[in-house]
Amino acid sequence: MIPRLSRTAALAVGLLSLATPARAETPPPNELGRVMILEYHKVDQPEERWTRTPANFRHDLETLYDKGYRLVGLNDLLDGRIALPAGTSPVVLTFDDSSPGQFRYVGKNGEVTIDPDCVVGILEAFAQRHPDFGRKATFFVLPGASKPNRLFNQPEYEARKLQYLVDHGFEIGNHTLWHANLGKYPEPVVRSQIARAQQWIGRYVPGYRIRTLALPHGVYPREVGWALRGAAGGTTYQYDAILRVTGGPAVSPFDAAFDAVRLPRIQALADELGRWFTYFDRNPAERFVSDGDAAVVTIPRGARGKLRAGLPPSVRVAERD
Ligand SMILES: [Zn+2]
Repeated sequence: MIPRLSRTAALAVGLLSLATPARAETPPPNELGRVMILEYHKVDQPEERWTRTPANFRHDLETLYDKGYRLVGLNDLLDGRIALPAGTSPVVLTFDDSSPGQFRYVGKNGEVTIDPDCVVGILEAFAQRHPDFGRKATFFVLPGASKPNRLFNQPEYEARKLQYLVDHGFEIGNHTLWHANLGKYPEPVVRSQIARAQQWIGRYVPGYRIRTLALPHGVYPREVGWALRGAAGGTTYQYDAILRVTGGPAVSPFDAAFDAVRLPRIQALADELGRWFTYFDRNPAERFVSDGDAAVVTIPRGARGKLRAGLPPSVRVAERD
């Protein structure tokens, strides 16, 4: 944790613009606060129930940045590895259904480049302008869906795209083979949907370990264990987290109530986003705020009882007033 300057002092030494968040003052650290895991579907025209336009997606990133949110990878959140500057808050971006607007190559001068209006293009351009925002997202893809949801809808670039994501620090998640409602099927079908999706992805990015599963329609199989680990068709799988489609902000990964098997998400639609931005503006004590030191978990004084058991031994807990 770094000492906090008053606004006046910060202005006097010209630090305020460098210290970034466009907020009146840096909030005290609270690493037991809640974390938003945002869930996007299509990024395309026009704006509708499951679609955010590229302009609105850029606007969401601006709003997050201005409010002091910084990107962390979903896997890092699961591991409690939140290495952010003091006073900023983690946010996780997830994209379901591998629709074309999430990752598209376009031809230009005989070569292909990433469409600046697709999610990957927008995220990279934003990170170039704001390197401290980070460049992380998890794509829950459908390798066996029909058009246009099969691995971003450009068959000739399926391998190239998945490799690109992995090589550039993005994460790939399992969303089943073709978006099966897992609550409707018997155990062998559930297992096959999960294992076969992983098998397809593994063909393009050998050795990449998929750690997370997002449930199509948010529906769990009759027994959650079927989705968590097992084998089918010669492929073994084991997942560290299962993501729902609703549920609000997640509790901190350091909180005893953190449940990776039932991770809630916030649908990234104008009204839902607005609602939670307002909520955290009005209830800043509810929000996860980093202390700037990944080896220390800073919590409000007296909140030790909320911590989960089994924090890594390398992590030290600090209480603050
Ligand atoms: Zn879906």
